Amino acid sequence: MTVAADPSSVPTSPIRTDVLIVGAGPVGLFAAFEAGVIGLTCQIVDILGRVGGQCIELYPDKPIYDIPAIPSCTSRELVERLLAQCKPFDVPIHLEQRVDTVEQRDDGRWTVRTQRGLVFDVAAILLAAGNGAFVPQKLGLPEAVPLEKRHVHYSVPRLADFADKNVVVAGGGDSALDWALALRKVARRVTLVHRRAGFSAADSSVELMRRAVEAGEMDFIVGAIAALDVEDGALRSLTLRQIDGETQLEAEHLIALYGLVADLGPIAQWGLKIHGGRIDVDTSNYESSRPGIFAVGDIANYPNKQKLILSGFHEASLALRKAYAYAYPDKKRVHVHSSYDTKLAEKIGAAG
Ligand SMILES: Cc1cc2nc3c(=O)[nH]c(=O)nc-3n(C[C@H](O)[C@H](O)[C@H](O)COP(=O)(O)OP(=O)(O)OC[C@H]3O[C@@H](n4cnc5c(N)ncnc54)[C@H](O)[C@@H]3O)c2cc1C
Repeated sequence: MTVAADPSSVPTSPIRTDVLIVGAGPVGLFAAFEAGVIGLTCQIVDILGRVGGQCIELYPDKPIYDIPAIPSCTSRELVERLLAQCKPFDVPIHLEQRVDTVEQRDDGRWTVRTQRGLVFDVAAILLAAGNGAFVPQKLGLPEAVPLEKRHVHYSVPRLADFADKNVVVAGGGDSALDWALALRKVARRVTLVHRRAGFSAADSSVELMRRAVEAGEMDFIVGAIAALDVEDGALRSLTLRQIDGETQLEAEHLIALYGLVADLGPIAQWGLKIHGGRIDVDTSNYESSRPGIFAVGDIANYPNKQKLILSGFHEASLALRKAYAYAYPDKKRVHVHSSYDTKLAEKIGAAG
């Protein structure tokens, strides 16, 4: 697996491959391995800056017990194992790329574009997009909208942007604590604001934060952000609602790290049959209502669908066998026993 280092560098000509896998969650990663086994080339895109989908974003340290032949592992370990499994096929993975548009050409192949200008020329598309693209949960305050990216932020692209600034970090999860701790080294002042004294972050981060507060390196306040006080288009302070009333907190920058929410986004406009935010598929091959576009994993909808990693693996395996027919229409059938090939065994053995 090769991670495209710079998501902003755009190749001049379309990237041609057999299958575009949308989503680097557990199902997309396993699909990359399966594609390699049956002789399909593929590339992966994911809107997030790292692989692993829900396993990494929502529950990295939770044990998983229902993966065949792995009695127990954390979901972080599962993602590491899936990456190791598809390593022999050296699949390029493009992070921070959301697929936006799709168009079928006269020759039957697809042109897929991402929001940052990547263009793919593919025989089939495998949507392993989970519940859709994860996007940050935003503040529900209208005055925050015009301040976005200038004074109100939902991620921290560069620590240096906050050098010598008065920064408030809002949230109680790993991202909020980790960034508050990192920012205290560059910002003039960092205040962590969370609506309660308990956190969902790792115990070690909570302990570090408490020690930093005791040492006077940062502040922590329990409260909810009720309003932003804006002057001349710039953030001046926040109104915090606390148990005993409201207070003002000076801030030049607010970084709200409230976690991620899922949104099907542009895929909903692709003309696919969709029910309850998921894509209807034919369970004999997990093809959607548009032949050549497949949906596997949590994004697939069919009677008795189970949102389990195991189910997604099975779906991807069948979908790719049908995708093979689009990529190689002249070949009668997939070489299903290719895992007995000496070449394949050597490849997997060499990488393992
Ligand atoms: C708390 C919790 C515990 C769970 N425990 C278990 C368990 O023990 N066992 C089990 O089997 N299952 C478990 N699950 C369910 C399991 O995590 C999901 O079934 C699994 O993650 C689905 O994998 P996926 O690859 O289909 O989707 P996801 O993991 O959701 O990955 C989809 C990826 O697609 C990307 N994406 C979406 N849209 C786009 C787009 N337009 N462009 C680019 N990228 C896009 C997303 O950013 C994401 O990275 C659990 C779920 C939760 C929430």
